Amino acid sequence: MANYKHIESALIHGGIYGDRFTGAVNVPIYQTSTYEQEIPGKHKGWEYSRTGNPTRAALEALIAELEGGIAGFAFASGMAAITAVLSLFDTGDKVIISSNVYGGTFRVLDKVFNHFGIGYSIEDTSDIDNLDSKITPDVKAILIETPANPLLSITDLKAVAELAHKHGILAISDNTFMTPYIQRPIEHGFDIVVHSATKYLGGHSDVVSGLVVVNREDLKERLAFIQNSTGGVLGPFDSFLLIRGIKTLGVRLDRHVSNAEAAAKYLVENPHVKKVYYPGLPDFPGYEVNKKQAKNGGVMISFELNENHDINKFFRSLKLISLAESLGGVESLVCHPASMTHASIPYEVRQKVGITDGLIRLSIGIENIEDLIEDIDNAIKESVI
Ligand code: PLP
Repeated sequence: MANYKHIESALIHGGIYGDRFTGAVNVPIYQTSTYEQEIPGKHKGWEYSRTGNPTRAALEALIAELEGGIAGFAFASGMAAITAVLSLFDTGDKVIISSNVYGGTFRVLDKVFNHFGIGYSIEDTSDIDNLDSKITPDVKAILIETPANPLLSITDLKAVAELAHKHGILAISDNTFMTPYIQRPIEHGFDIVVHSATKYLGGHSDVVSGLVVVNREDLKERLAFIQNSTGGVLGPFDSFLLIRGIKTLGVRLDRHVSNAEAAAKYLVENPHVKKVYYPGLPDFPGYEVNKKQAKNGGVMISFELNENHDINKFFRSLKLISLAESLGGVESLVCHPASMTHASIPYEVRQKVGITDGLIRLSIGIENIEDLIEDIDNAIKESVI
């Protein structure tokens, strides 16, 4: 039984705390591929580091505790984690994905799992009635992101979990954008949570990693088997970096979110800005649902400038905020979803779901908010044509 009640303490003390062999307060980096056995099969619980490694195991126990699941699994990237989850399905099965899922999730289904006869369909998962009508007998799971990348549309977690279970299929959430500090899908009935831990969990743009948490014994067994069989595991040093990053997740996110709220307000009030997407804004379409299931609106903001702006000029004029793929680090980043994160989604699909060529996505860091707003403001003025 843990000695704490709140997630801020679990971030620091959760999972396997310290090292019982030495008393070290931090889990050491067990940089070993294999472990000595006394006689064949008699060992201290560790055989080979693809199957299990103490540093990785500490991270896996930590993320399972934070998400409220029964087991965690650490992978070499978010895509390796998603690939492991999709490996649960068989030829002839189909997965429904939210219309704005990460481009790489779409790509792996469209270009890799398709070859194995696993299909997908893209649906607006924020419309539950419509979703219900799309669940044919071959559909075996609904994979959602809320907020979904990059338009930040919100899906009702509880409603999707109930719908999935009514049809006897899995509810899977990619919780990368919120993290368990802001939102815990398993508490709303989800079976599986995946993360690109490269983002807020790592938090410092210095590690690529992925995590899976499951909430059922059969899924725990199957995921452990898939993880060991396919082998895309996270190494001990990267596991250590993630444990270290997670310790400060709460304080980082408090600052990220207050900066994001201020930046969203600034953008809404700016006459050069045509549209702002941020789930923390009261008139955002998913505001009420998000409020019900998440602590706040998160950190990501997307927006469009008026027609008389050159967006390349906008990107070039930013001095503090870097144009880069990814998000969730302490430094602010900006990206152009149509040509960067979502380039693998065909143009027609992007138009249909609203990822326009003028859309700009901001990952607000933890710098001083006045400096950030000044940078955005200057770049907006410079980009007028
Ligand atoms: N899921 C989401 C929501 C993402 O934003 C990303 C990457 O940007 C991924 C998954 C893939 O993660 P990774 O880049 O760690 O493989």
